[in-house]
Amino acid sequence: SWCDLEDIIGVSIRQIEDSLENRQLTVEIDESLPPVQVDELLMEQMLVNIMSNAAKYSADKTRITLSAYQKGDHIEISVQDKGIGVPLNELDHIFDKFYRLKSDARVPGTGLGLAIAKGIVKAHGGTIWANQNQDQGITVFISFPVGK
Ligand code: ATP
Ligand code: MG
Repeated sequence: SWCDLEDIIGVSIRQIEDSLENRQLTVEIDESLPPVQVDELLMEQMLVNIMSNAAKYSADKTRITLSAYQKGDHIEISVQDKGIGVPLNELDHIFDKFYRLKSDARVPGTGLGLAIAKGIVKAHGGTIWANQNQDQGITVFISFPVGK
């Protein structure tokens, strides 16, 4: 159905409030975002999976920035952290099921969060990818069509 993306983002942030602890969260949402044709619960789950990684793989008090913009007939959402980052040659693999970086043995996880996020984005006809930041951490991008 047609949903308000700002509401979806709000709900997903509230769901991970506890794991965000004292990260500094910045949320930048395009003021004129159109309604989007998505499954609300799945979109919330997708954002929870990405945002919880940003918290889990970064240190206390670092900044996490979530942005949502319209780009033509697509919406682009990005989640940037200042965390431990991902080596360039593993950036594509983090979306594979059960894939975890070796350095993560200390942090518990199944390696499914991003595979599930990718499945959800694909179901909406979108794409998901990640880049290294200039300084520290990674940014995960999601792009999906507004709807028909
Ligand atoms: P879970 O299934 O509980 O989410 P997980 O967090 O290990 O477990 P994914 O969310 O799929 O699994 O992430 C896969 C791997 O990608 C992680 O184990 C981690 O190595 C790496 N990763 C994901 N997000 C980040 C990030 N923001 N910063 C650094 N590494 C990350
Ligand atoms: Mg995860």
